[in-house]
Amino acid sequence: MLRVYQGLFRPYVGLSVRLSSSRIDPKGILANRVAVVTGSTDGIGFAIARRLAEDGAHVVVSSRKQQNVDRAVATLQGEGLSVVGTVCHVGKAEDRKRLVATALEHSSGVDFLVCNAGVNPLVGSILGASEQVWDKILDVNVKAPALLLRQLLPHMEKRGRGAVILVSSISAYMPLVELGAYNVSKTAVLGLTRSLALELAPKDIRVNCLVPGLIKTDFSRMLHENETFWNSLKQIQKLQRIGQPEDCAGLVSFLCSPDSSYINGENIVVAGFSPQL
Ligand code: NAP
Repeated sequence: MLRVYQGLFRPYVGLSVRLSSSRIDPKGILANRVAVVTGSTDGIGFAIARRLAEDGAHVVVSSRKQQNVDRAVATLQGEGLSVVGTVCHVGKAEDRKRLVATALEHSSGVDFLVCNAGVNPLVGSILGASEQVWDKILDVNVKAPALLLRQLLPHMEKRGRGAVILVSSISAYMPLVELGAYNVSKTAVLGLTRSLALELAPKDIRVNCLVPGLIKTDFSRMLHENETFWNSLKQIQKLQRIGQPEDCAGLVSFLCSPDSSYINGENIVVAGFSPQL
């Protein structure tokens, strides 16, 4: 069975896999497993896709824009990693369907789903958010992971076990007034993690959650370029540096790996300091 996956992904892996310049680890902890990562052409999602592939997985990258998908796939394939990609706006049913179909074009099942795509269309308070803003935030951040998982589940079940990683935010624990409805959506993701973990435990599919703090990406530019905000965060949490996307990627690889096989329903903060008791 595993050979099938290797074979189908091989055209994308190319000869570089056999060369020392390749960064894929054929004996890696995720060797021959298949991962689907949403919102993975930039930032945290891109670092996760790269790390899972470096650890041996075949990875399907995706995001809303074709040019971003092409760029991410070319970069990772250029590093000798086993990666394919497709456009998927996670809030669109037809795109989610295409993402599942793309994964199955290259393998007969999926082991890992990382739901990283998230949006915040409004900088403003909860009561400042229109119905349209609420719909967009809840559709993309909360509903889409559940709906995508629903579609992928039969193909994960075939593998006998699997792992799902959702992505919340430290603002789920420590809300910023400026991120009103987004805070609420990310708190919902913590609950989604725990409910799904219970629901899928009998199928040996674990569901855990990455909870990033301030990580230097385009998404957080408004915060990390705000000196007053950054200085007060440094002061309160004694942070020595700002987080990088790669700081999140190792945890996701661990949560996919057998080393975490007894960890389920957990929300893990990667923020230089934890707001949890
Ligand atoms: P980022 O650097 O802006 O990257 C976002 C990625 O997601 C891009 O590849 C983007 O590509 C894609 N994307 C955006 N909307 C999408 C959608 N509707 N469907 C599918 N793909 C979409 O963002 P990031 O900082 O890495 O954030 C990733 C996740 O971490 C989000 O869930 C965010 O809430 C969470 N988070 C981030 C921070 C932080 O400080 N950076 C902190 C806490 C939590 P396209 O433009 O091509 O779609």
